[in-house]
Amino acid sequence: MATPEASLSEFTLIHTHFARLGSVRGDVIRGVGDDCALLRVPPEQELAISIDTLVAGIHFLAETDPHGLGHKCLAVGLSDLAAMGAAPAWATLALTLPAADEAWLGAFAEGFGTLAQAHGVALVGGDTTHGPLSITVQVHGLVPAGRAIRRSGARPGDLVCVSGTLGDAGLALRGLLAGDPVNGYLRARLERPTARVTLGLALRGLATAMIDISDGLAADLGHILEESASGRGLEADQIGAELRLADLPLSPQVRDAITRTQDWSLPLAAGDDYELCFTLPPDQRDKLAALSRRLDCPLTAIGRILDKTEGAAPMGLTCRGPDGTSWTPKYAGFNHFPGPD
Ligand code: ADP
Ligand code: MG
Repeated sequence: MATPEASLSEFTLIHTHFARLGSVRGDVIRGVGDDCALLRVPPEQELAISIDTLVAGIHFLAETDPHGLGHKCLAVGLSDLAAMGAAPAWATLALTLPAADEAWLGAFAEGFGTLAQAHGVALVGGDTTHGPLSITVQVHGLVPAGRAIRRSGARPGDLVCVSGTLGDAGLALRGLLAGDPVNGYLRARLERPTARVTLGLALRGLATAMIDISDGLAADLGHILEESASGRGLEADQIGAELRLADLPLSPQVRDAITRTQDWSLPLAAGDDYELCFTLPPDQRDKLAALSRRLDCPLTAIGRILDKTEGAAPMGLTCRGPDGTSWTPKYAGFNHFPGPD
């Protein structure tokens, strides 16, 4: 929707920056330029859809480099598709902009477009409005019927596994907020996350449950536990998990920070990691190393799913410290509307 006086520049803006962004796909019957995009969904495939909004001042610092923002707003959606084992196909983009700043738009579109190309994603539509900076991306992926990996399939005895390293983005954000120098590695982990799309696809038929770690491992693994309990008609506290903190995959920087502070909240609760957490039947453990080599992506077993008889903690999650002591995290991840529950 456009106000009449804004429509020409809005049209030009869309035409210049967003009309042909990302991959050219044969299944796009009509992309940007009509009232709706028209897309061909192949028979026997299900459409996987996810939407995320990034708001300046809440999800990113207002001065964040626009190229990185273009990358990140698509990467967080691709990470959701990865977490279901869906193959990315299309995206739509709703932008609210304080001004039509050409340089900002050019860099943003390039960051978005480069990642879209890399994953074969076509930008097929969107909306452009005037207001405080906010970016909403909806991604659409395809998955063979019945083969999506849900949060609800974890079973007692399954291994809990994660990709990559945890806590890097949280450490980078902590540094930026404190005005400390943040090195290129950590900064990239915060501003240009890698969506684990190929891993998600490779885990179809192997992982019993999966989620992407956007709110922190403790909160997101908690969602797997809740969904897996209710999926089997059990009370929420009847399935738990035990994690071995010593086995968490950490970059040297995060390891140093924990050694200094003895605070495990970075890998457990800081969020913005966009790694995958998945559960694997124990007899599939051997596949982990081969998959990790093939995909050139660290994959680490960090614990296991428990049933209540094995002493699942009330919150569902027990962590064993390096000295073997049990420790229940109080971190709950980020909540935009914290309430009494
Ligand atoms: P309408 O008024 O019919 O909703 P718009 O004027 O909002 O249409 O948009 C015109 C076309 O441009 C549509 O195809 C829409 O999907 C597309 N579009 C608008 N903003 C964006 C954007 N930021 N990125 C990609 N496509 C966009
Ligand atoms: Mg219309």
